[in-house]
Amino acid sequence: MKNKKLVMIPGPTPVTRSIQDQMGRETVAFGDPDFINDFKEVIKDLKEIFKTKGEAFVVAGSGTLAMEMGIANVTKEGDNVLVVSNGFFGDRYVELCERRGLKVDVLSAEWGSVVTPEEIDNKLKEKVYKAITVTHVDTSTGVCAPIAEIGEVVKKYEDTIFIVDGVCATAAEPEYLDEMGIDVLITGSQKALGVPPGLAIVLAGEKALGRRKSLGTIRDYYVDFEKWIPVMNDPSKYFATPPVNMIWALKEALKIIKEEGVENRYQRHKKVARAMQAALEELGFKLLAKKEYRAVSLSNALYMEGIEDAEFRKILAEEGVVVAGGLGAYAGKMFRLGHMGNIDNHFLVSTISAIERTLYRLGKEDVLGRGLKVLLEELAK
Ligand SMILES: *Cc1c(COP(=O)(O)O)cnc(C)c1O
Repeated sequence: MKNKKLVMIPGPTPVTRSIQDQMGRETVAFGDPDFINDFKEVIKDLKEIFKTKGEAFVVAGSGTLAMEMGIANVTKEGDNVLVVSNGFFGDRYVELCERRGLKVDVLSAEWGSVVTPEEIDNKLKEKVYKAITVTHVDTSTGVCAPIAEIGEVVKKYEDTIFIVDGVCATAAEPEYLDEMGIDVLITGSQKALGVPPGLAIVLAGEKALGRRKSLGTIRDYYVDFEKWIPVMNDPSKYFATPPVNMIWALKEALKIIKEEGVENRYQRHKKVARAMQAALEELGFKLLAKKEYRAVSLSNALYMEGIEDAEFRKILAEEGVVVAGGLGAYAGKMFRLGHMGNIDNHFLVSTISAIERTLYRLGKEDVLGRGLKVLLEELAK
């Protein structure tokens, strides 16, 4: 009998049955009174969970569209923008901003490390930046940026809008907009929220909304906050067709978060990450992210001598677990393992066990049960 395949990549993450059921519902008119109420509740919940007095936007798209929406509404051509890059997705913001005619300065960290709040402070002193972007968790390296500390720094700069790419962090790492000085939080549905891919989600605080107003008419149409604000405040209005079933799926995901308690959810992710990381290290992998910057949503594990990427991932898939390959200079050198969203201990045990069986099949005979023991001990703490 074939093993069930667990999708343990850094997004899409496993979609729990109750969310799947929302995807399978019969689609209704977007003007349906019940749907309008559901959409309203989603917007209200997003603002409550991520704590902003501003606006929440949910549109069809992926995380990359959310990145575009974030920057398009707070800058105009010729503005100075600071992009903080801790990896591949930070670099994506560089290209995205350059194409928009923004003047981009980049602060980059070596992969596995992060740009520090002090470095950011020093850079912001140099000139007026209209916006700064920071990737909360860069999926290419598995590092987590100190968002709250960076928020404290950016607060001092009145003209600078703080954009956080939370695509691989939102609902796993704490993100409170108004408290942390995050002006724009952009995210997607398919990572720690545990919804299938298909939604771009953006939250904007009052400072960002003020900036949008001051820009007048912007070139972008679909991602324009001003076009969507009337809809998000009253979903009976039409601008562009909302993805009805996706919004139901998100509503269910937010219900799961509220039932778990968002703080409990953050704690759970921390515990899971530390346990998975300890187990991977016990099995002989090294993690790319330095210990003090490790994300809770995924782990990027470097192969030991004698293990070949394509073969490892092929056998692991046969054993029932799908992981992602490395990006950039780390392609072929590591795998990326997501452990975020709506996953329980069964997923963790099965994943570490499948990794052990894979290593065993590749000739590492002393691994069986070793990672599992560490995993279970950490989870029992
Ligand atoms: C996945 C990811 C993105 C891109 O999201 P898509 O949904 O693939 O467009 C952007 N930023 C980060 C940090 C990501 O992990």
